[in-house]
Amino acid sequence: MAYFIDVIIPVPLQKLFTYSVTASESEFLKPGMRVAVPFGKSKIYTGIVFKIHNNAPTTYEAKEIQQILDEEPMVNQNQLLLWEWIASYYMCTLGDVMRAALPNPFILENETVVVRNMTKTIDESILKDDEFLVYEALHHQSSLKIHDISNILDKKNVLPVIKRLIEKEAISVEEEVYEKYKPKLVRYVKLHSNFSSEKSLQNLLEDLSRAPKQSDVVLSLFSISAKTKKPVKVAKLAEESGASSAIIKSLIDKGVLEEYYIQTDRVQYSGEETEDSKKLNTYQKTALAEIKSSFQDQNVTLLHGVTSSGKTEVYVKLIEEVIAQGKQVLYLLPEIALTAQLITRLQNYFGEKVAVFHSKYSSNERVEVWNNVLNNSPKAQIVLGARSSIFLPFNDLGLIIVDEEHEQSFKQFDPAPRYHARDTAVVLANLCLAKVLLGSATPSLESYFNAKQKKYGFVELKHRYNDVLMPDIELVDIKDKLKRKRMKGHFSDRLIEEMTDALKEEHQIILFQNRRGFSPIVECNTCGHSPQCPNCDVSLTYHQYRNQLRCHYCGYNMAMLQDCMACGSQDLDAKGFGTEQIEEEVKILFPNHNVGRMDLDTTRGKYGYEKIITALEQQEIDILVGTQMLTKGLDFRNVKLVGIMNADNMLNFPDFRAHERSFQLMLQVAGRAGRTEERGKVLIQTYNPHHNILQQVSTNNYIDMFNEQMNDRYNFKYPPVYKQIKIILKHKDYNKTETAAIWFAKSLRQVFGDFVLGPESPPIARIRNQFHKNILVKIPKQQSLSKTKEAIIKINNSFQSIKDFRSVRVILNVDNF
Ligand code: ADP
Ligand code: ZN
Ligand code: ZN
Repeated sequence: MAYFIDVIIPVPLQKLFTYSVTASESEFLKPGMRVAVPFGKSKIYTGIVFKIHNNAPTTYEAKEIQQILDEEPMVNQNQLLLWEWIASYYMCTLGDVMRAALPNPFILENETVVVRNMTKTIDESILKDDEFLVYEALHHQSSLKIHDISNILDKKNVLPVIKRLIEKEAISVEEEVYEKYKPKLVRYVKLHSNFSSEKSLQNLLEDLSRAPKQSDVVLSLFSISAKTKKPVKVAKLAEESGASSAIIKSLIDKGVLEEYYIQTDRVQYSGEETEDSKKLNTYQKTALAEIKSSFQDQNVTLLHGVTSSGKTEVYVKLIEEVIAQGKQVLYLLPEIALTAQLITRLQNYFGEKVAVFHSKYSSNERVEVWNNVLNNSPKAQIVLGARSSIFLPFNDLGLIIVDEEHEQSFKQFDPAPRYHARDTAVVLANLCLAKVLLGSATPSLESYFNAKQKKYGFVELKHRYNDVLMPDIELVDIKDKLKRKRMKGHFSDRLIEEMTDALKEEHQIILFQNRRGFSPIVECNTCGHSPQCPNCDVSLTYHQYRNQLRCHYCGYNMAMLQDCMACGSQDLDAKGFGTEQIEEEVKILFPNHNVGRMDLDTTRGKYGYEKIITALEQQEIDILVGTQMLTKGLDFRNVKLVGIMNADNMLNFPDFRAHERSFQLMLQVAGRAGRTEERGKVLIQTYNPHHNILQQVSTNNYIDMFNEQMNDRYNFKYPPVYKQIKIILKHKDYNKTETAAIWFAKSLRQVFGDFVLGPESPPIARIRNQFHKNILVKIPKQQSLSKTKEAIIKINNSFQSIKDFRSVRVILNVDNF
């Protein structure tokens, strides 16, 4: 009898490849193990065994595998089932899924580049001869390719050696290296504890009466702490008392003052004792009980809890119960919300049981988490992760929490698999017999709809923790303000008033502007021309900081123009406005305060985002200007005022979800205001104060928003009422793209009739020199989704067989919203 295995290879080919194995190999192998296999003329890939059988392939002769790489499966059966579901639901290949699922060092292949692991010195005696040769070679050369290693060892079959070297931490796979984050230490002072009694204090003040400068410092310290009730920074004390740092230093030396530092590096768990989780209030208790009882007969439950209602504490209680049964927990968050803030909060409760899995972590860190999850190690009983953590090899998963479930970034847009992590989590939980809790203050329409249809359980948390009032939301009509000349730049008199008050009380302010850059578009006042990107159909954006025009799609940039490219006029004007311009204006309006900016430009790098958040937490920033990054569930103590600079550009965005998204964004930003004792204030500037969404935002009326939006979705046949699949065609030649798209759409119409829209050029019709055409297929609920996909695949196959169209790229995006 002959023995074969089907292998998943990380390339986007529709079929699995069959290799031949010996009887004993077939006996040893299990699905989910890695094997090194030859592919094409000279390539070697790491593949995953999918199936073991006795059927020879009919159209080609099966090659032999090179080597078995694992003793035990590294992907378990449930994961393989999940991969299959993703490939079929999101219309991609198992190879695509494999590439997204496994950390890079697991997928050794020809292109892999290895380097010496500089973070470890290893005992060379643990290396076998062949391992030593490679390790030694890396002392002379900074990196090696698989092919070089083949030459060094004079054999083809080198993946096992590399794999062992990685396991021994002698080498690692090359990748982008991120900077390690060390938050700045901030220096604070307080009165030395020797003077905590009334008596000793009096003596001290008497002593100091002969040194008026020093006593001024001590008195200033009192008045600042009384006013702010917060730790006092040395810098602040120097400023208020007018004393030099030498005087403060002499007081510290004398032992009158005591200096201390607050360190906020909270990514690494310091190993201190864990604290007990907080006691829930009655609303939280009720919610927890309701969630548990809904899990009796529902696998998925939606928790709709207003901002700052204490959802996280409810999750924590639920997690405690699940891990007490020895089960694993996955806590999913949008990438950007995975901040030190939440990590520390969970580590404080669960200590070392919390592992973090995040695309900005090095692949070695990710490999470690993977192995801990696979081995059911207590070190990764709770995984806090971004969307790709649904691929971890859980073998006893009890609960998945999807926090901020409405977040668009749970969906991967490029490359395939174009999966939605929330929806995939529901499937994963079904496979593992685990429960899913979706949480949000502003649920997506589809989840709320599912809850209303009783497909999901539903629990509400309507009160903010501590009964802090919801922020007071005021709409400011900027059309009227402009008419009455009450605007300074982009700031209405109301906003300036509120900002002045908040700053006077030493509160912090967040200003939200949904665009980065200075003023997106430069326009000629004489002829109306605005400079365009040569590669994409968009206007270039003006960045004041670098005095450049930049394309946000391809990165093209040029120096800012002196005169119009079309007519030579020097009368160029900046239209629209972005975060950078708001930042500039704030600095002019409030020159004595620190202004920070948070957008894609200021948060690159592993900890770019954390740095700004830490600065805000440590109160080094008084006013933070930012884009939607600001909305991600952050918990700031001292932010009292939130200003939304212009609501209209969100509302007018050409997308069927623009209104839903605007509602979510605005309520989420508003939720950053007044999270502790004092009620927060939110000002929304708009040309359209009567817009229904703005009315719904200002009254925090989710239900009205839901009903009205659902009405539109019924009328215009959009999700969640209809399903949809978007087909994108790309090519560098416009005519070819168009002909191909017309052919594709026509074929689709023969099957689906009027449910096919397009082909249409998207608002930005050319990106990186590729023209785009979109076709949308709408799928009514009663129509079979799998039959629909089969038909689309058939059409796509015929399309690919037309010679003229072969160079056109086709992208299928299921649930493309
Ligand atoms: P949400 O996730 O709903 O926006 P959080 O869980 O961040 O709300 O809670 C808001 C604030 O209230 C946090 O600072 C949190 O520490 C505090 N909090 C919530 N529940 C409790 C509790 N039961 N006891 C003490 N503090 C709580
Ligand atoms: Zn001009
Ligand atoms: Zn461009």
